[in-house]
Amino acid sequence: MINQSEADWFHVDVMDGVFVPNISFGMPVVAALSKEAAKPLDVHLMIVEPDRYIRAFKEAGADRISVHAEACTHLHRTLQVIRQEGLKTGVALNPHTSINVLENILHDVDMVVLMSVNPGFGGQQFIPQTMNKLRDLAAMRKQTGASFLIEIDGGVNAENAPLLLEAGADVLVAGNFVFRSENPTQTIADLKAL
Ligand code: ZN
Repeated sequence: MINQSEADWFHVDVMDGVFVPNISFGMPVVAALSKEAAKPLDVHLMIVEPDRYIRAFKEAGADRISVHAEACTHLHRTLQVIRQEGLKTGVALNPHTSINVLENILHDVDMVVLMSVNPGFGGQQFIPQTMNKLRDLAAMRKQTGASFLIEIDGGVNAENAPLLLEAGADVLVAGNFVFRSENPTQTIADLKAL
């Protein structure tokens, strides 16, 4: 269904039960997905020590890898490793994490992922403060001449999506809103039409 839909990417949430309280799946499932997916795999690692697994996720078919700033002691090095593997780099920030942590790596990041829920479970409510954070991040991008995409992950729906796009978001991740809807293909088309 997603291959046939207007969706641009597959967003793949990998959870380790340590960085987040939930466990999803690892490399074998990503590899299986990669065989069927006709669109890029946007892999979001919600795991501790992601450096250890970057090559494995690349081999499993990831096109882009986002790591959490909170999970990386040497974030700059981690981003270099992702780039050296030929993949697009992403940094995800939990709701409590300030965008200021990005200040010294703005040109090493292809995408910043703002978590608009606390990561770990689907179906959560969008945290309204994300809107201010998004506006500040978009302003920071403009002021510094950086060119990263801004992705919003969590609680995206038809009401907040237009506001997010207006505030500077480039990529919207929609899970529950699409898959719990009566006609997911149409829901994706409606979001894309915004
Ligand atoms: Zn995600």
